[in-house]
Amino acid sequence: MNNSNRKSALFCPSCGYKSSLGGDWKMSSASDQYQLRCPNCGSVVVTQSQYCTEYSEIQN
Ligand SMILES: [Zn+2]
Repeated sequence: MNNSNRKSALFCPSCGYKSSLGGDWKMSSASDQYQLRCPNCGSVVVTQSQYCTEYSEIQN
């Protein structure tokens, strides 16, 4: 399978920072939930419940 066209860009809602899902977002975990935080302003951009499939790929 070629998934090179599966680009998932995320935008920080607070400062507008943009990066791919596997980019330089800061991943943090609390109990059984993961969060991606903006490396620029520290806001939570997304949580595992929204992108659980993508997260499992990131962790590999
Ligand atoms: Zn931000």
